[in-house]
Amino acid sequence: MINLLQIINKAKTEHTLSKEEIISILSCNNINEELFNAADEVRKKYVSDEVHLRGLIEFTNICKNNCLYCGLRRDNKNLVKYRLTQEQIFDFATKAKSFGYKTIVLQGGEDDYYTKDIMINIIKSIKSLGLALTLSIGEKTYEEYKAFREAGADRYLLRIETTDKKLYEYLDPGMSHETRLKCLKNLKELGYEVGSGVMVGLPNQTIESYADDILYFKEINADMLGIGPFIPNEDTPLAGSKGKELTMALKVMAITRLLLPDINIPATTAMESLNKNGRLMALQSGANVVMPNVTEGDYRKHYALYPGKICTGDTPAHCRGCITGKINSIGRTVSESYGFRGNKNTNN
Ligand code: SAH
Ligand code: SF4
Repeated sequence: MINLLQIINKAKTEHTLSKEEIISILSCNNINEELFNAADEVRKKYVSDEVHLRGLIEFTNICKNNCLYCGLRRDNKNLVKYRLTQEQIFDFATKAKSFGYKTIVLQGGEDDYYTKDIMINIIKSIKSLGLALTLSIGEKTYEEYKAFREAGADRYLLRIETTDKKLYEYLDPGMSHETRLKCLKNLKELGYEVGSGVMVGLPNQTIESYADDILYFKEINADMLGIGPFIPNEDTPLAGSKGKELTMALKVMAITRLLLPDINIPATTAMESLNKNGRLMALQSGANVVMPNVTEGDYRKHYALYPGKICTGDTPAHCRGCITGKINSIGRTVSESYGFRGNKNTNN
């Protein structure tokens, strides 16, 4: 145990660990408090007590892919499908701005209805509000990523989901791990702030593979990393899986903070769906970002990635007040800046 504390201390000061060292921390649950405290200290030192809020618009739940874990998968017939119009998206973004959000995250299934030209229009309209914009719309060609960047998109979220190639290709039928890696490379090359991340608790995922995930994050020097527990969804082939590994997800996240001290790490919605204090626990174990939902009405309910998703009956105004209260209750403040990595206050 003394040895493990030394390893945590090394990570805290040198921000590097070997695969064996990561595995030893992930395998032992007696040092979790020390690990979370170390990540909290590093978070405070590098990215301060400010929490960045990103307003999330879930603009389509239609997806051409068939990921085994996800409720939006093509073969799920139990989902009420929707697409937001350009006007609705602009309206939600305008309201988010009025609530004080500085960033909009546009997330959706891989829905070809939104062609390159439609997306460019949406991107330009949101950028005209003076907000930072993050896209999370899956795998696209280099040309599409380039066009979206030129239209003004600042950041892109594309989780690698797992660095275990075999597991990835089993879970995402018809998709290739290589393409996923290539997309992330292309996004970096195009000058996006790049976010990736993984799920924790997938069937047959191992501690060794979490260690590989963390080392991969470091290797690509991701600017943002979202780590969330896998929550089995009744309407998917993984309905009978176990999942729900909140503690392990927090541990993977905490080590990620130790190794990448200055990046943005969200307290994920999936964490809060498993524990009513999940996001606060995450904010005290390395996270510095929250992504409240700014989608209105029944759409929230229909964006059913996994069951038990929080706040599906709430309004954006309610969510904004609620999360600010929670953040203040642990002595933290909501940031007024755009929240780029390294605290650049530019918004192109
Ligand atoms: N289609 C885009 C974005 C929407 S999915 C994409 O796939 O990149 C956003 C994220 O939700 C996915 O990256 C995945 O990590 C997460 N997710 C999907 N199903 C989930 C589940 N059952 N439990 C937890 N997270 C899930
Ligand atoms: Fe589609 Fe993304 Fe869900 Fe896969 S995870 S089915 S790509 S929405």
